[in-house]
Amino acid sequence: MTEKRILCISCPVGCEMTVGIEDGRVIRVDGNRCPRGKHYAEQEAVEPMRVLPSSVKVVGGRRPLVSVKTDRPIPRSLIPEAMKAIRETVTLAPVRMGAVLLTDLLGTGANVVATRDVSAETCGDPDAVRAKGEM
Ligand code: SF4
Repeated sequence: MTEKRILCISCPVGCEMTVGIEDGRVIRVDGNRCPRGKHYAEQEAVEPMRVLPSSVKVVGGRRPLVSVKTDRPIPRSLIPEAMKAIRETVTLAPVRMGAVLLTDLLGTGANVVATRDVSAETCGDPDAVRAKGEM
């Protein structure tokens, strides 16, 4: 059996847990003060998951980028590929907070959503922006 030390980040208490792993499976969790910690440790020990924050390019907006995040955690192992997909994404202003800019990121079921508004630079006419050759 191998052991991993994992800090629970599910709440501010920050319990330090010890996870026992045998044949790739969690067989024991110690140090958690509640069931959330046990669930977190079991997931973290086998397949860590993270909400991914990033930004997406905006054409025709008052800002060149809009901050985004995944609407649920994705496997940490997929983050480099997910960042590449997000970097290749371009959206057109205006962007509203909560707008879905990418769906089912890499088949994870997670959507990439805007976390702020970006208003249009001009009157927000998408055809005018396209005519300028920015898309
Ligand atoms: S185990 Fe429970 S009490 Fe401890 S940090 Fe995690 S969520 Fe908080």
